[in-house]
Amino acid sequence: MDSKTIGILGGGQLGRMIVEAANRLNVKTLILDAPNSPAKQINASPDHVDGSFTDYDSIVKLAEKCDVLTVEIEHIDVEALKKVAQKFPNLQMYPLPETIKLIQDKYLQKKHLIEHDVEVVESIDVAENSVDALLAIGDQFGYPFMLKSRTLAYDGRGNFVVKNKDSLAQALEFLKDRPLYAEKWCPFTKELAVMVVRSIDGEVFAYPTVETIHKNNICHLVYAPARTSDTIAKKASILAKNAVKSFPGCGIFGVEMFLLPNNELLINEIAPRPHNSGHYTIDACVTSQFEAHVRAVAGLPMPKDFTQLSTSTTNAIMLNVLGDSVPNKELETCRKALETPNASVYLYGKATRPERKMGHINIVSSSMEDAQNRLNYILGESESIPS
Ligand code: ATP
Ligand code: MG
Ligand code: MG
Repeated sequence: MDSKTIGILGGGQLGRMIVEAANRLNVKTLILDAPNSPAKQINASPDHVDGSFTDYDSIVKLAEKCDVLTVEIEHIDVEALKKVAQKFPNLQMYPLPETIKLIQDKYLQKKHLIEHDVEVVESIDVAENSVDALLAIGDQFGYPFMLKSRTLAYDGRGNFVVKNKDSLAQALEFLKDRPLYAEKWCPFTKELAVMVVRSIDGEVFAYPTVETIHKNNICHLVYAPARTSDTIAKKASILAKNAVKSFPGCGIFGVEMFLLPNNELLINEIAPRPHNSGHYTIDACVTSQFEAHVRAVAGLPMPKDFTQLSTSTTNAIMLNVLGDSVPNKELETCRKALETPNASVYLYGKATRPERKMGHINIVSSSMEDAQNRLNYILGESESIPS
């Protein structure tokens, strides 16, 4: 299984977990990112590249040593990537540079999905970053509406909720100089997500539909499967698969969506890489999202049902561990998880900072009620350790 070397642009926690999965299969991985980034820490090799995944020369240095390039982040310089593809005609790149280009601009992504008959949140381009342009959008969408940066968004940091006309100037100040678009407000009852992996010959496999709960725009909890009807879960799965089918190439995708009060589903956004809502798969599924990605981009077998919950698990909860305002206090939560049967702790080897994603905890069980009891203990909301 070690015939192909996979180069990963980005060495954060997602890269680190791709490395873990690849290591088990003897698939060699090399990382392009800053020295000692999380993915490099667990991957002894003199061949990693120190540099930026947005820099052409650094990508070339990585490409020289690899058979396949993949990404753990979509904020790559696509033009640099395309030039690298021309320089190394035998090098495979998954996701395809065109896919990254379409997805990294959230407005282009929406236009692409609409063209492929996939239901998305209604959105509109902001032609000019001015109060007048936003006033016209407010007249059309009503208030509140969501103003978003088209590019370089993560953890809600490119988003501003425009509550009324008086907050337009503040919104422009907050998202100063960024390319913007606006979205209609979605009064969702739940946020759902589905990981979908696409094989080299275009077959798509969906992981179970999950429910994500955000706090301050950052993923806080994932409930797998989603606490919703089978019909809605199935509908979400079909929507996610249809969306991913519209992108050629292969690999794993995270599809985020909103469930509306009338049970309609709309796609919020897609990530062309492993995704926070899929971390539960490490403990709950036959094959983790990270291994599925490695299998897809390396052209390894992807058998029927390899994305399903494993037979011993019916329910799982994932808790993100974010940096506390008191440095390292988040480790107390991890310690409680270590005391808890059926809970697994993953730490990413990052320096602590408030709200930074430091790790996650997976709880698996045969009922959601039991998983919730374990979570309550870990969060300090109940005293007795579940047996
Ligand atoms: P990430 O890439 O980390 O998931 P992001 O910065 O790209 O986040 P979004 O996914 O666009 O941000 O939005 C973050 C959260 O804000 C969503 O998960 C949802 O809770 C809320 N949100 C986004 N768009 C809307 C909308 N149109 N209406 C209501 N809430 C929204
Ligand atoms: Mg995003
Ligand atoms: Mg999002």
